[in-house]
Amino acid sequence: MTDSPFTVAIDGPAAAGKGTISKQVAAHFGFAHLDTGLLYRAVGARTLTGEDALQAALALTPDDLHRDGLRTPQVADAASQVAAMPAVRKALVAFQKEFARRPGGAVLDGRDIGTVICPEADAKLFVTASAEVRAARRHKELAGKGLTVTYDEVLADQLARDARDAGRADAPMTQAADAVLIDTSDMTIEQAVARAIAEIERRMTGDA
Ligand code: C5P
Repeated sequence: MTDSPFTVAIDGPAAAGKGTISKQVAAHFGFAHLDTGLLYRAVGARTLTGEDALQAALALTPDDLHRDGLRTPQVADAASQVAAMPAVRKALVAFQKEFARRPGGAVLDGRDIGTVICPEADAKLFVTASAEVRAARRHKELAGKGLTVTYDEVLADQLARDARDAGRADAPMTQAADAVLIDTSDMTIEQAVARAIAEIERRMTGDA
């Protein structure tokens, strides 16, 4: 753990493993972790009950990130829709930037962390995997929670969400020029975490 702020930006598509990697990286270095997808999920969830997206984004509180029901496919889709609205993104920027500057170090994961939220991040990773591997992982996770959804439905939802996230005009999902690409298709989670930690340590020691 460092005394000066150290920011790690981890981006990538859904179910590539970035959530698990981010949590374990944060625990390893003693950094705080923000899953920025939860901000968009919380806003998306509110729109499903009829609330205006921008009003919901402006009224968001940290408690909203811990509500039940944010991990469903319906909320993921709503999140991706509100995430394409520039005013909604703008309303969520300050909170994320402030989190990134935490004195003890921070890991933020999302879609635009290395490109828009923290372009000056000390370490940037872009975590991906093939669409089929990602869909299989997400399908297993959802089935484990008792949700009745087929692999084909998960794959189709995911491809639609990735296309929307990568194709939007404002802060599209894309690998930052200085981000290290980690393809987890053929890795165990332990291997992916070890690789991420090694890359971050390289940045810390200036060996990158
Ligand atoms: O990461 P997660 O799948 O929870 O994100 C849900 C949605 O939130 C994404 O599909 C994307 O549309 C949006 N998002 C974003 N920018 C981020 C994080 C998430 O646009 N930094």
